[in-house]
Amino acid sequence: MNAALPVDVLKQHLIDPEICIRCNTCEETCPVDAITHDSNNYVVDPDICNGCMACVPPCPTGSIDNWRLVVRAQAYTLADQLGWDELPREEALPEAAAAVLPPADATAPEPPANVAYTAAGASVPPWSAAHPYVNLYTHKTPVTATVVGNYRVTGADTDSDIHHLVLDFGELPFPVLEGQSIGILPPGVDAQGRPHHARQYSLASPRDGERAGYNNLSLTVKRVTEDHQGNAAHGVCSNYLCDLAKHDTVQVIGPFGQTFLMPNHPRANLIMICTGTGSAPMRAMTERYRRRIDTGENGRLMLFFGARTERELPYFGPLMKLPRDFIDINLALSREASQPKRYVQDLIRERAADVLGLLADRNTCIYVCGLKGMEVGVLDALREVTMQSGQDWTILHDVLRREGRLHFETY
Ligand code: NAP
Repeated sequence: MNAALPVDVLKQHLIDPEICIRCNTCEETCPVDAITHDSNNYVVDPDICNGCMACVPPCPTGSIDNWRLVVRAQAYTLADQLGWDELPREEALPEAAAAVLPPADATAPEPPANVAYTAAGASVPPWSAAHPYVNLYTHKTPVTATVVGNYRVTGADTDSDIHHLVLDFGELPFPVLEGQSIGILPPGVDAQGRPHHARQYSLASPRDGERAGYNNLSLTVKRVTEDHQGNAAHGVCSNYLCDLAKHDTVQVIGPFGQTFLMPNHPRANLIMICTGTGSAPMRAMTERYRRRIDTGENGRLMLFFGARTERELPYFGPLMKLPRDFIDINLALSREASQPKRYVQDLIRERAADVLGLLADRNTCIYVCGLKGMEVGVLDALREVTMQSGQDWTILHDVLRREGRLHFETY
């Protein structure tokens, strides 16, 4: 009998649809555009993926880190993956394929040297960040939380209907850190009759709870009534959350996020740059610092916060009551009738000397959260202020990413 011919084996990269929260981070990160999605799933094209691993560290859930040994000619197609509700079981390879397999420890693709960061930000946390717990509750095992507060944090006369929502977890453990997010499972089904996927929201409260010592947390939710083009659109989860009453219950999964975390060592400085509801993690970090103001261990806080008007800036009242020697607040208002249009990046330029002073300190971390469009503007402003001082931004940017000191969360 003839010996079987060797078969080309592929270590195929797959995304677990049961854990994925459809946050788009992987698609944005992939340097070769191998990741795509439809309304059901995020999937990896086996003909394009080179196993570079750049997408793995930034994934907030770990759903991205799944691999199957398959005969290359029988790799799961994009159509296969788009139709999945769960990952297929591992299949045994044909004998001829097994015979040509490399040793087990050689099958995992080696990450290239530069995957410690994504294109703009770091994909490692600051060195002193506390240990985050992730995926304690999944789509299959959600936890029920009770609404203990839901109130509007923007002017009632404005179009920006932004809510502060407080969820209580009762006796169930739900350990979180500032910068992490959770998933909310809205009730009902999508246009295809499938249960809605989870929607991701950043925590607005610090690790010890919205109310210190209570097992609760808070979110900042903007009611979505139109899409990015301004066409009428009904946000399934945001409307559901904004309409919840006290004592209602919600299904929660998570927590998620292993990199957008705050430093935990004394005298660490934070530069926080946000727009609109992207202020949620900045509120969490600021509140963490505020609660330990008497310890003398806080570093400096510098905030750049963009909104259309003061009345559309979430938490405007409480924010402005914070002591000026505790936090350096810079508001960029874009549609305030009495002022010229300002974006956060304009204020970064105006405060160049102070930004540079903080950047020169290795205890400084930078967080950027909010509209996708601000990313380029903020990077340009940071480049400009750095170059004004005669420094090479390319080098500093690289250091900030490698040391987990520059983080982006934009949508
Ligand atoms: P928004 O009200 O639409 O905008 C806030 C401000 O940003 C406005 O002053 C706006 O100015 C300005 N802006 C627009 N384009 C900009 C650019 N290229 N650079 C800098 N500033 C710019 O904001 P929003 O509706 O609250 O949206 C916040 C974003 O944060 C959403 O995309 C949301 O998904 C994301 N996010 C939310 C959470 C959460 O937990 N809730 C967490 C992470 C991220 P003009 O419109 O006047 O030009």
